[in-house]
Amino acid sequence: MGLREYNKYGRAAEHLRSTILENMLSHAYLIEGDLTMDKMGFAAALAQAALCQEEPGEGCGRCETCTRIQHGSYEDLYVVSPEEASGSKSRVQSVRDAQIEELQNQLKNKPAEGDRNIAIIDGADTMTNRAQTRLLKTLEEPYPGTVIMLLSENAETLLQTIRSRCVRVRLVDVPEETVQEQTAATDVLEMIREGKYFFDIKERLDQAVKTRSDAYVLLDGVEKSLEGYIRRGSDFLSVRQQAEAVSAVEKTRRAIQQNASYKYAVRHLVLEIERIVRPGGRE
Ligand SMILES: [Zn+2]
Repeated sequence: MGLREYNKYGRAAEHLRSTILENMLSHAYLIEGDLTMDKMGFAAALAQAALCQEEPGEGCGRCETCTRIQHGSYEDLYVVSPEEASGSKSRVQSVRDAQIEELQNQLKNKPAEGDRNIAIIDGADTMTNRAQTRLLKTLEEPYPGTVIMLLSENAETLLQTIRSRCVRVRLVDVPEETVQEQTAATDVLEMIREGKYFFDIKERLDQAVKTRSDAYVLLDGVEKSLEGYIRRGSDFLSVRQQAEAVSAVEKTRRAIQQNASYKYAVRHLVLEIERIVRPGGRE
């Protein structure tokens, strides 16, 4: 399970994947999403995607690095969570100045395992004012390779100066069927890339496309995924091949609008894309 799992939270995962592959990761992210969203899971997946050598940009979930991140034993990953003040009767939990101070000291260490220190501040919007002011210093002069993720339900409680120093990532709930169709589109293209038999691809298509409107959603997904390959600099297809494939998608859309059998039309599209990316046929 990697970053792709979080396509359910909108385009953030896809966007961050390209950012990692382009080596353009920023030093601070403000990851916003409501109570129901697994922001910690998202942040851990992002850490894996940034550090995994097996599947950069995704996180293989199996290698030593990924496994240790999952088990919370990766040395260069620091997690801070809200705590009750010691000795106080109040049960209010917040991220305190002393915790940020400790984190600052930890981030001064050179990374021991990879080339990055990563910090996750859970419940960042509970940071006391002193904690926020202290954190500002780190956000202003981060050590190279450091990535700090602030997880927040309500970023408006944060100092404006904190917000403005972070790249804001908004997690949104995407309807389940959209996620499934996007996943189907990615699956189909990956199967083409891997040279899978048409019969197997057809099976995956039939599973995803049961109605005319499923077909339209799949086409949108295919178009988005084709764009993604180019943005990520994948060697799957050239810019020219991508343009040809997108025009094949448009042709398919038109054919379906003109009452062609949608099942037949999407199968035909797969064959078209195969022809475009593998002009010499299968080796
Ligand atoms: Zn891995």
